[in-house]
Amino acid sequence: MTSSTATPETVERYVDPDDLICPCCRERAVELVPAGAGVDGVPGFAHLDGSTLCGTDRAGCNVEPVEVIQ
Ligand SMILES: [Zn+2]
Repeated sequence: MTSSTATPETVERYVDPDDLICPCCRERAVELVPAGAGVDGVPGFAHLDGSTLCGTDRAGCNVEPVEVIQ
């Protein structure tokens, strides 16, 4: 039986949203608009409890969550 089901040779790097954490406190980060976030420049990520991620850059933008490295 030679059923060639999908076996991609180039596996695209896929970041599982479940593997994102806050780079500062290393708590889970979820795709969520934190309370109090402006319409523009919406961070788009928050802690599980809905608070913004800890770190902000100089422009006051929220940091991007990082991927958990197992
Ligand atoms: Zn944090």
